Amino acid sequence: MTCTTCPYCGVGCGVIATPGDESAPNRLRIEGDPDHPANQGRLCVKGAALAETVGLEGRLLRPLMRDDDGQAQTVSWDRALDRVATDMRRIIDQHGPEAVAFYVSGQLLTEDYYVVNKLVKGWLGTANIDTNSRLCMSSAVAGHKRAFGEDLVGGNYQDLEEADLVVLVGSNTAWCHPIVYQRLMQSRRERPEKRIVVVDPRRTATCEQADMHLPVKAGSDVWLFNGLLTYLEEHGVVDTGFVANHTGGAAEALAVARADGGRLEAVAKACGVPVAQLQAFYALFARTRKVVTVFSQGVNQSSSGTDKVNSIINCHLFTGRLGEPGMGPFSITGQPNAMGGREVGGLANTLAAHLELDEPAHRQLVQEFWGSPSIAREPGLKAVDLFDAVHDGRIKALWVMATNPVVSLPDADRVREALRRCELVVVSDLFADTDTAAEARVVLPALGWGEKDGTVTNSERCLSRQKAFLPSPGEAKPDWWAVSEVARRLGFEGFGFEQPHQIFDEHARLSAWRNDDDGMRRAFHIGGLAGLDAEGYDRLRPCQWPVPQAGEHTPRLFQDRRFFHGDGKARLVPTAPRAPVNAVDDEFPLVLNTGRIRDQWHTMTRTGRAPRLASHLPEPFVEMHPYEAMLCGVQDGALVRVASRWGAMVARLRCTADQPRRTVFVPIHWNDQRASDARVGALVNPVVDPLSGEPEFKHTPVMVSPF
Ligand code: SF4
Repeated sequence: MTCTTCPYCGVGCGVIATPGDESAPNRLRIEGDPDHPANQGRLCVKGAALAETVGLEGRLLRPLMRDDDGQAQTVSWDRALDRVATDMRRIIDQHGPEAVAFYVSGQLLTEDYYVVNKLVKGWLGTANIDTNSRLCMSSAVAGHKRAFGEDLVGGNYQDLEEADLVVLVGSNTAWCHPIVYQRLMQSRRERPEKRIVVVDPRRTATCEQADMHLPVKAGSDVWLFNGLLTYLEEHGVVDTGFVANHTGGAAEALAVARADGGRLEAVAKACGVPVAQLQAFYALFARTRKVVTVFSQGVNQSSSGTDKVNSIINCHLFTGRLGEPGMGPFSITGQPNAMGGREVGGLANTLAAHLELDEPAHRQLVQEFWGSPSIAREPGLKAVDLFDAVHDGRIKALWVMATNPVVSLPDADRVREALRRCELVVVSDLFADTDTAAEARVVLPALGWGEKDGTVTNSERCLSRQKAFLPSPGEAKPDWWAVSEVARRLGFEGFGFEQPHQIFDEHARLSAWRNDDDGMRRAFHIGGLAGLDAEGYDRLRPCQWPVPQAGEHTPRLFQDRRFFHGDGKARLVPTAPRAPVNAVDDEFPLVLNTGRIRDQWHTMTRTGRAPRLASHLPEPFVEMHPYEAMLCGVQDGALVRVASRWGAMVARLRCTADQPRRTVFVPIHWNDQRASDARVGALVNPVVDPLSGEPEFKHTPVMVSPF
């Protein structure tokens, strides 16, 4: 019996995995861990089906190399790693370190993430490493830094239970974070007076139990929360002491909120909701002190995602509603380790241990700690720009780990073309048949869930162990090992790791190093977990950081009203509303919105193997309002073609009145390995938020026609 963590969403549920006995060696039993604070024994259907996804069918068991004709052959690890290191060295010598890039994943364990960041930023001396977390929460990171001075989620899941009002913005929580939703529903059954408001253009499963659904127009969130800020001010709902003593920027934020149509009627028009409903929401928010505002991809995946995040946080800062039980803004992340990646500086514009790449003193600290020959001097390319650079030849070597950008990135056909143009593409994955691995020169067999060992951090800062309880299949290896082997071949010291606990120890020590110095103080501090040996690491139980001393956990930040800007105050940020970058027109008159479905995960490389999970929604689909379908001349149940200026796809039409007029919804999961022409990423406009670099997945002009 092994206590581990679910590898899917950012809820980060604890799992007890019990491999079969001698009579049934393949029968893996999966249960929720009753002692894990995230789920307290619960599991959603994806977690419960984990045993169905760990078989070896289709697994890559030895490294593969492809020749110029695309012929693949299995090779030894030595040969594959020699090839990677030799080609990288040649490309760096000829074109400099900026010609090499890495694209990694919130599926990596923190230890993998740490080692690859150390290699790239400390030894190669470039910051051209970005992660698929860019696609789901980088706007939250940028918003947190602007508001709090550091990327911090202050609260926890218990706050959602204790709140009297929970506002879910751009989050189909019932499907995308099911255990958080179950906890929320349980708390509402216990306290029926609790209120739940959903802000979402679509009427999703999350709306079924909500007291109010505000079906705002896609992209109008800043109008909504600027209007709320104005309403709060006009009605005297302000914590003047908190604002005066612990924040800056309130006057400027209010001035912008008022100037850009903060009046009720103007806001209702901008958001496309009735004035009376808007007023009811604002009044409910104003009179309820214990409010948690949960936000997710519907907020983040926007060309104004960072401003949306700050417009939400502004309302909490203005009312002093954070840092106490049952209140605060709460970013809920998409992936199991999106937060662990943030801790080690997994984004192209961040450094390890929540230090900043653009701060010379921070760079010096990390370089000194690592004893590295160099340190990246400026932010690297963010995901969309990074693949542009591959496409136009500035980047000549790319190593992709545990992610499938040919399916998941915007303008995905161009991403595929970019990989075909690239001199060296290396992919580390469980399978060689993903859309991305099919384009690689070298494919390295990685360990999967149940085989690899390390830590992850969930949406409430809870650090948990993911443990190996299955044998490593074939010659599959941990990603940190493959990176360290390439580093050694490049002649770099500092990569002598033999076990994951050694990496974790270094990560924990870096988080504590000079953390009390002026200008260096940050909340991310797990120094109390440094020095764990293999046994201690194995026994590590879930804990919420900061952990400055052994045994000290921090379920809630900001109780001391201290933030992490230089003056110790938080910031309200002026957020002028902006429309999505590409507007609909006569040729592309509908807005495409993308998202997850309940029983699949990302590009289905694992969940697609579980028959039980396929039974919910078995094939790719396009959702549309019946009236809109009639106008487009397409029929419910028929195959339709959806096209944008960037690409096209084909899927079956599902008509539903839950889908707003003038819009369509397509799930993100399907790929060309499972259904031809079903990658919605091919359609998505490659426009991004200027601060966070997060793509605008929720708003692409498209047309729909019969297939
Ligand atoms: Fe796994 Fe998320 Fe389901 Fe929990 S809610 S079992 S973490 S998929």
